Amino acid sequence: MTHVTLNSVRKQYDQTTAVDGLSLDIAEGETPGVVGPSGCGKTTTLRTVAGFETPTEGTLAFGGRDVTHVPPEQRNVGLVFQSYALFDNMTVRQNVAFGPRMAGVGKAKRRERADDPLDMLGIGELGDRDPTTLSGGQQQRVGLARALAIEPEILLLDEPMTGLDAKLKRRLRREISALLDDLDVTALYVTHDQAEAMEMCDRIAVLSDGKLEQVATPTELYEAPANEFVADFIGTSTLLSGPVRGDYIDAGAIRVPAPTVTDATATAAVRPAAFTYGDDFEATVTERTYLGDSVRGRATLADGQSIELRLDELPEPGTTVSLSLDESRVHVLDS
Ligand code: ATP
Repeated sequence: MTHVTLNSVRKQYDQTTAVDGLSLDIAEGETPGVVGPSGCGKTTTLRTVAGFETPTEGTLAFGGRDVTHVPPEQRNVGLVFQSYALFDNMTVRQNVAFGPRMAGVGKAKRRERADDPLDMLGIGELGDRDPTTLSGGQQQRVGLARALAIEPEILLLDEPMTGLDAKLKRRLRREISALLDDLDVTALYVTHDQAEAMEMCDRIAVLSDGKLEQVATPTELYEAPANEFVADFIGTSTLLSGPVRGDYIDAGAIRVPAPTVTDATATAAVRPAAFTYGDDFEATVTERTYLGDSVRGRATLADGQSIELRLDELPEPGTTVSLSLDESRVHVLDS
């Protein structure tokens, strides 16, 4: 297990700053997630840790050792990509044994190094199969087994669930999560799917335009986003802004409780479940989606602002409802 440190890493391609001064500490055995919209620098960050890219500025260290200029083949990093990139002229076992073979591991030991992760991932019986005959989920596991067979110090996963159906994704998330816990390997999990990151990772780094917006636990990101970008990217929020008057933000049709704010104006991020039935303000339902255990919806306030709701029940669009705001669930953003 290795502690990984990115220290003010910047990666510039001509006009594009793909990663912009990123500092991140990954503890031994930890699996933080890296999330953000397309083009925010997730893959470049991963490729830098793997050694395929050299930072334009900044440094990278594994276990306190500077590896900024160490070539990828000397880094002992396992990679799992969204395209499984399995060799179709080799069996599953040969695919998994490929890394150890390149490292000069003898035949008997190689077989063990291939069969162990295949067994661990529940696909031991597929060793002799041609990878092109496997399902997407099976291929994904082979990809993971191949990365584990090199006994990596660090495991990098780049959108490993892309292309799999929703049910299989859910199952694999649980399996991979449990496996990473068991293995105690230091890993980095890149995904554009924030729900996936929230399920898989104890800590998540949110990137936008190559910059780190916040790194925190899923709960902190959701309940206390650092800024409007995070509030909007992680889950759904209604942003309510306005002048601060005494102990509330005057956001037009709603008074948002903000007892500790001293700024002249402020913005609050309000999660859908913070709106409850009550008698503080009215809103007209515009959208309603039944989710089985609750209803997600949208409504318009008297001043025209739109709010996101999640309630046990919600009447049909066009109906006016009377609501309140749960003060304990309001998060005022730092200005
Ligand atoms: P996605 O979710 O779409 O995969 P990403 O967050 O992984 O995106 P990156 O692939 O890291 O984003 O790209 C970050 C930025 O750097 C983008 O603007 C991209 O166009 C640019 N970029 C990445 N690689 C190169 C390259 N080899 N040459 C020039 N620009 C690049």
